[in-house]
Amino acid sequence: MNWLLPRIFAGVLAMVLGGLAGYLLGEPARSPVLSVMVGGAAAVGIVAVLDTLRGYRLINWLRGAQDQQAPRDAGFWGELGYRVERSIRLREQRLAQEQLRLGQFLSAIEASPNGVLLLDAAGAIDWCNSMAADHFGIHPQRDRGQPVTNLVRAPAFVAYLQQGRFDDAVCFPKPNLDGTLSVLVRAYGEGMKLVLSQDVTDRERNDAMRRDFVANVSHEIRTPLTVLVGFIETMTNLSLTETERKRVLHLMQQQTERMQSLVSDLLTLAQLEGSPRPAVDRWVPLEPLYVQVEADARALSGGRHTLVVGRPTGVQIAGAQTELASAVTNLVNNAVRYTPEGGRVELSWRALADGSGEIAVTDTGVGIAREHIPRLTERFYRVDGSRSRDTGGTGLGLSIVKHVVQRHGGELDVQSEPGKGSRFRLLVPAARVRQTSVANPTAASETV
Ligand code: ADP
Repeated sequence: MNWLLPRIFAGVLAMVLGGLAGYLLGEPARSPVLSVMVGGAAAVGIVAVLDTLRGYRLINWLRGAQDQQAPRDAGFWGELGYRVERSIRLREQRLAQEQLRLGQFLSAIEASPNGVLLLDAAGAIDWCNSMAADHFGIHPQRDRGQPVTNLVRAPAFVAYLQQGRFDDAVCFPKPNLDGTLSVLVRAYGEGMKLVLSQDVTDRERNDAMRRDFVANVSHEIRTPLTVLVGFIETMTNLSLTETERKRVLHLMQQQTERMQSLVSDLLTLAQLEGSPRPAVDRWVPLEPLYVQVEADARALSGGRHTLVVGRPTGVQIAGAQTELASAVTNLVNNAVRYTPEGGRVELSWRALADGSGEIAVTDTGVGIAREHIPRLTERFYRVDGSRSRDTGGTGLGLSIVKHVVQRHGGELDVQSEPGKGSRFRLLVPAARVRQTSVANPTAASETV
């Protein structure tokens, strides 16, 4: 009430002063009472007009955007303007803080690797992050307010929303059909829904690959096992001649070796997948590795091929010796196995201008049709299954090679033409290649 007394006082003072002025001015007119009343009323009127003007200025300011300061008047209107302005500024500050927090919150949801979509009680899109927009093929702004089932028409999703039982997630193909989405809905507020989406394409693909892998391994082991069981039954139930017995034992040995190679390749793959990348400062000399590979290849060929092996004198590769040996052995053994008698197999080394290097295995064998080349490194992928098995193949060799070369930061390149031969190149990055002495690129050993 501390604003009321000054206002009453100002009104009374104006009246008194106005009355006094009226009295003094009215004295000569000899009507003092009337002059006092007119003077008092005039003074109160002037005070009221001034007061109205101040009030009007304040209302005008309130009608505007309030971005200027409120009118700074003295007294009642000044205080009212100051207090109204202060409460507006406080509210603006609070609003700005809330908006900042909302912005941070939305940026956090935006950064989520999952899609987040908010639906209102009628099932219309309220807000979505860009991941959800990508998953559902919708536009975050343009499609706001649209019923979601008008835009996402996958029958599984529509049925899921309609049923309203959201205990488990639902999976369905992405609208652009390039993968699978897993969607989970949570109800909140008054009938509103939070739709969380996740791209599970890779997970599904990995699951399918794992299932295929287990099925393939089981199949690869079951075949020789069945053969072995058959032979064991034969030997148990029948009396065989010495020649027959030797033949059966030889076949049993072949099947056992087949299982052994399979288990050994599987273990190699598991080790490659489970161990850290090979060190970049452990240098493996290439020449002794080539010598060993050559000896193995010569034993496998049994003199049926011309083997040409370059001498990478002084060349060293940073990495794991056993892995590199396994990769090169696999390539050279494949070249021998898929090259008919009388053919030529060459193992070479070439240092490239950018410091990188190339281990190449070239053969004049059966070659591979173009459509098979991208799939060669898949586990158990074989172009010619019977030839692979007859020559002791497991279908895992090139998967091992690819793993090894990738772990060394390199690449596997395959060029081949059916009937003419193949060239498999392991490209080793410059950081993993070093030359410790002068090389003699022409030196090569040729054995028949
Ligand atoms: P496998 O044990 O069957 O040889 P790999 O993974 O080593 O398995 O090779 C996959 C397939 O690639 C082989 O089955 C074969 O059909 C083909 N292949 C690999 N190397 C050669 C080659 N040098 N010449 C022709 N075909 C090859």
